Amino acid sequence: MRLVLLGPPGAGKGTQAQRLIQRLRLPHISTGEMLRQAIDEGTATGREAKQYLDSGQLVPGQVMVDLVRQRLDQSDCAAGFLLDGFPRTVAQAEALDAYLSQRKTPLDAVLEMHVDEDELLRRLIARGRADDQPDVIRQRMVAYHEQTTPVSAYYRQHGLLNTLDALGTPNEVFARLMAAVELAKPRTQ
Ligand code: AMP
Repeated sequence: MRLVLLGPPGAGKGTQAQRLIQRLRLPHISTGEMLRQAIDEGTATGREAKQYLDSGQLVPGQVMVDLVRQRLDQSDCAAGFLLDGFPRTVAQAEALDAYLSQRKTPLDAVLEMHVDEDELLRRLIARGRADDQPDVIRQRMVAYHEQTTPVSAYYRQHGLLNTLDALGTPNEVFARLMAAVELAKPRTQ
């Protein structure tokens, strides 16, 4: 299956992505992870991206689309994938659609994890990642609202969006995600 997992920072996307890829046996394509790895390795992409990650802003331009396309071209993605952290803008969503429709492998579903904003802030402050400083958190929230909320609307228009309540135990949330995946399955059969 070809899936996109959407959700604001702190929604529990990372945890649920791990569970989904294990259950569905899909490669996990996390652009945040790819960028953090590129920064650790000191590649050109990493050097360019660092300032944006450090300040909680989205990496601009074509870099992300190129990175994702290259990754989707690898053979382990032939039978499907779980995209996490991409697309973050409508431009990225359009680029992804164009690329997948050219390959005749459209998305099966977009899973959106919804959590109330006060709860998100509480969770992020408790998490303590390098980019989880209050100012950076605030900036990542702003980026999410301004640039990523329209991505949900884009997928809703395309009939792909499944929004689910991401409050509750990890097991409860996972069950909701799997129910949405099951609903999407007939599209690919
Ligand atoms: P994440 O781990 O998904 O929260 O991503 C961490 C950071 O990586 C974000 O705050 C952005 O700076 C950058 N990033 C990850 N994915 C993207 C994307 N699709 N477009 C632009 N920037 C991204």
